[in-house]
Amino acid sequence: MGGAQNPFLIAQQQVRNAVVALGESEELYDLLKAPAHFVEVQIPVRMDDGTLRVFTGYRSQHLTTLGPAKGGIRFHPAVTADEVKALSMWMTFKTSVVGLPYGGGKGGVIVDPRRLSRGELERLARGYVREIWPFIGPDKDIPAPDVNTNAQIMAWMVDEYEKIVGCSCPAVFTGKPLALGGSLGRNEATGRGTVIAVREAMNYLGLPLKGARVAIQGFGNAGQFAGLLLEEYGAVVVAVSDSRGGILCPAGVPVADLIAYKQATGSVVGYPGSRETDQAGVLTADCDILIPAALENQIDAEVARHIRARVVAEAANGPTTPDGDLVLAQRNIFVIPDILANAGGVTVSYFEWVQNRNQLYWTEEEVNARLEQKMVESFRQVVATAERHGAYSRTAAYMYAIHRIAEGLRVRGLLH
Ligand code: GLU
Repeated sequence: MGGAQNPFLIAQQQVRNAVVALGESEELYDLLKAPAHFVEVQIPVRMDDGTLRVFTGYRSQHLTTLGPAKGGIRFHPAVTADEVKALSMWMTFKTSVVGLPYGGGKGGVIVDPRRLSRGELERLARGYVREIWPFIGPDKDIPAPDVNTNAQIMAWMVDEYEKIVGCSCPAVFTGKPLALGGSLGRNEATGRGTVIAVREAMNYLGLPLKGARVAIQGFGNAGQFAGLLLEEYGAVVVAVSDSRGGILCPAGVPVADLIAYKQATGSVVGYPGSRETDQAGVLTADCDILIPAALENQIDAEVARHIRARVVAEAANGPTTPDGDLVLAQRNIFVIPDILANAGGVTVSYFEWVQNRNQLYWTEEEVNARLEQKMVESFRQVVATAERHGAYSRTAAYMYAIHRIAEGLRVRGLLH
């Protein structure tokens, strides 16, 4: 698996492919090829042992002309400026695929949060907000959770933001705990959206979801809920990995049990009755549905040649390299691209923001019904675009997203 591919260059290439396929002008590419705003900040944190550490963080706002920027904040040691830029670009196209009134944003801090105490993590979260607060706001840029961040971290961030601005402002962050104005269904939303897309894909291909075998690479928020919901549809999870390694369970693993095991031990590795493998072993496991739900650049050409799944649903952002894409397309594997497959998270974030602004809260059934409707509609639009243009699914998703963005830029007079 390659890790050397620069995600920013990959995102630019994806935009170019779609602009060319749409017969759009170079001007559109120029408008979309880089973030509109990008800040780098230094975050001083007093550690538990009394020493001072200064962490580097970023916030990127790719597009702010179609609504506020929107996207998560990632805490990870491998965060780079270019990765955050790429992730913010992908958010622009993701929010457009599902028709949300936003542009893309993303933030990141270079840190391994597993090495921080709870107190250090809280001080880092608050410190990040003290540096970026002038750039964010419910009408400007609305952060949310991403890799290694969660509702508790959002709570600390909202609390810090509200102390600075001096008034209640729940709509500045989404993915909050329910007690602070979070939405029912938000925690499960990314996984739920992925599973709706998988169900539609299997249906489209005429394949049964009941009894389908599933491999999940990455067992965080998205991977866990996708596994649980697929199980409800009668699918069987046969391979799972997390950052420490992977396991194979050809007879199927009860997902709730595996989550409990990971909570107790820190990893899925060692789950009783499983066989140990590595990341590639999970990606190329014998299965019908593969869900990459970890990080970028996991499926390169070599891995893609050995994938046995019929459907790949990208719960992660950017898991497939351009070379990997070529192989998947050639092999006629049905890829549900990230900007569609993981759009459920930001969709329910949008619902949370709407509820916060109206101070009127919805039932879980209402949230899930609206999510279902958005995911099914977007899936159909992307498939229709792919059929109409004979395009690969990723290019079709970008074409559909960029077509909508181009319309918005045109009526503003920014594009001829
Ligand atoms: N981090 C998630 C994503 O990549 C969610 C973003 C959001 O809810 O704003 O889509």
